[in-house]
Amino acid sequence: MKINVEKWIVRDKSSPVYDIISYRLVSFEPCCGDIKEIPLLNIGYEIVENSKGLEDESGKVFGLLLKESYSWYNGEDTDEDFRFYLINNCPCCGDKVEVNIVKEIDKTEEYNRIEDECKVMHEKWIKCDSKSKSTEYGKQWRVLNDKMNSYHQTDGLFKQYS
Ligand SMILES: [Zn+2]
Repeated sequence: MKINVEKWIVRDKSSPVYDIISYRLVSFEPCCGDIKEIPLLNIGYEIVENSKGLEDESGKVFGLLLKESYSWYNGEDTDEDFRFYLINNCPCCGDKVEVNIVKEIDKTEEYNRIEDECKVMHEKWIKCDSKSKSTEYGKQWRVLNDKMNSYHQTDGLFKQYS
């Protein structure tokens, strides 16, 4: 199975630990038809349980991951959380999982520009007296805010797969 992705980086001046990193799916060649029947398997960028030393500055690893939910007792109640495991071979046919980062793209400038626009729009929104304008500014602010959030989101594997 071959997974090709672009790595998007928004750099933080203070430390690489705070860089925003996400991966965008470029192409995916599935090894077999059974793979998409495993509901808890997908590409992701997470802290994983089973690969010491592979992670980057943030402690996370990108790859094909198995997502396990578990509950734990927090002293008062039961909480639910997730654990991730890196999968190196297809569990259905045994084919090796090949992940290629075909391009690394620095999105810092683009992100900073949107962040500035977002701040300006928020300022406009809270200072606005007109009700109709305020609604419009609020809408525009949400669009910009969603755009900023999208830099945190890594693509799923199966959205282009049918
Ligand atoms: Zn397979």
